[in-house]
This record gives sequence, structure tokens and C-alpha cells, in this order.
Amino acid sequence: MNKKIRNILSVILIVTTLLCFLCGCNIEGINYYNDEYYSQESDAFNGDLRVHFLDIGQGDCALVETSDGYILIDAGETDSKDPIIEYIDSMGITQFEYAIFTHPHSDHIGSASTLLEKYTFNNVILPNAVSTTKIYEKLLDAVETEGCEVILGEAGKSFTLGDALIEIFAPTSDYDADDLNNMSIVAKLTYGDVSFLFTGDAEKKSEKAILSAKYDVSADVLKVGHHGSNTSSCEEFLNAVAPTVAVISAGEDNEYGHPHSETVQRLDELKADMYVTYEVGNIVISTDGVAFGVSTEK
Ligand SMILES: [Zn+2]
Repeated sequence: MNKKIRNILSVILIVTTLLCFLCGCNIEGINYYNDEYYSQESDAFNGDLRVHFLDIGQGDCALVETSDGYILIDAGETDSKDPIIEYIDSMGITQFEYAIFTHPHSDHIGSASTLLEKYTFNNVILPNAVSTTKIYEKLLDAVETEGCEVILGEAGKSFTLGDALIEIFAPTSDYDADDLNNMSIVAKLTYGDVSFLFTGDAEKKSEKAILSAKYDVSADVLKVGHHGSNTSSCEEFLNAVAPTVAVISAGEDNEYGHPHSETVQRLDELKADMYVTYEVGNIVISTDGVAFGVSTEK
């Protein structure tokens, strides 16, 4: 790079930094109000409940931040532990009220034992589904060593954290070792008028069972099931959820081709705004219980 170009770039950098400083460097986001479809690009919405969807490649990890404590939902692959720990530490979190590990597959519980050892978890919610993998055994060992309260995650249970309500809609069926995705805990988080549906890797069978049980799955934000796979997100289920925002957690160029085109098309037809972690990085959705805003890393 010649000296002249370097000087020009330096000037641009200084001017940009100065402008950012003068305007308070607000993070831009897209904000949504109530149920009606309305969006507007503006400063990031600043509510008192935030859900963070972490960009950790092909796996799931979300953090729920409330003024009354934190909830971890899934813990990515084993090799995602460093970015997850970095993110948690950057928020200054040392203790979680709840961890929900949706089902015992490595892309959801890979870093669970490390996190259980590093932070305090008061309650750990697990589905009635076991696995013989080393990763799952390490999770159970850590739960026992750390003395966490274990809660069986099954349809019909609910719990609160401050003013946030968490209702569990699945699994509804008995344990099936060959169908671990459909043993996923499906949970709805409601704060005021704003709700989020977390689906783990639940597939059509579980979605249909949830609908048959007449749970109210409608939600403003849907963490799309099974990384956007066509094994999940059947039309009836998506219609019932009717999300304004759909979050898909998937790794770039993943070997499964997630998200699948059928799922993307269905969400498009529902006019849901779609955010895929490998495209936009970490996603933060903030709400005051009336409106909510989505901010993305890129
Ligand atoms: Zn998965």
C-alpha cells in the first residue's frame, strides 16, 4: 500500500471515529411494534428483557437476559465453548437461574459441562431423553458435581423469572431413543405482549403433537426448529406461530444444507423477517413487553 492511500485511509478512519463519537455511536436495529407488521430502521431498541442468539456455527445457544436473572438455552458444540464463554463474560454474568438443554445432541449440549463447571446454574431443565455419548455423560456428571437442581422438562410445566413466563409445550411423548430431535424441549417465553418460541430440533411429529394439545404457540419471535431443516416447520405449525421474526441458527456451508429452501419459502410466505446467524452474526432482540427491536452484529 503506498503512503498516499495509507494517509487517506487514516483520515477516513479518524473522521468515522469522530462522527461515531459525536453521535453516541448508536447501534442500528429494526424495531417492531405490537402484532401489526411494522418495521422501521432506527437506533437499537432498549428494553429490559433481551434474548441473545449466539453465532456459534452449526449449533444452538441463546441467552435470556432479564433484570431478575439469566436463562441459558442450549450450549452449542464442544468447540464453541470459547466464543460462548467470551460472550457470557462480556455481559458480566456469573450465575444463571435456569439452563434449558433441549435435547442430548452435541450441537446443543457440546459445551454444557464446561459452562456448568465455570458458572453457577441454580436449575437445569432436561427432557426425559438419555444418550450414551461421552458429552451427555459429562453433562450429567457436571450437574451432579455442581449440585444443580434438575427439573424434568415436559409439556405442561411452566416457571417464571421475574415478570417473564416460560411455558413448556414439548416433549409430549414418551422417550424414544431413536428420535431424540422429537424429544426436544419446546418452550415459549412471554414478557408482557411479546413472546419468543424456542423449538430446539423438534420436527413435524412434535409440532403436530403440540398443536393437537392446543398449546398457544403464537409468538412474535420464532427460533426456527432444527436449524431451518425441512424435517421441521410444517405449514400448520408455522401458520399457528405466525412469527414476525424468525431466527435460524446455522453454520455457514454446513453439511446439511440448513436452512432448507422449503422452510425459507414458508417463512417468506408468512412475511416473517428472517435472521440467519451465519449471515448476520450474533442477534440481540430487546423488548419492554410492548415493542421489540432486533440488532445484529453485521
Ligand atoms: Zn441441532
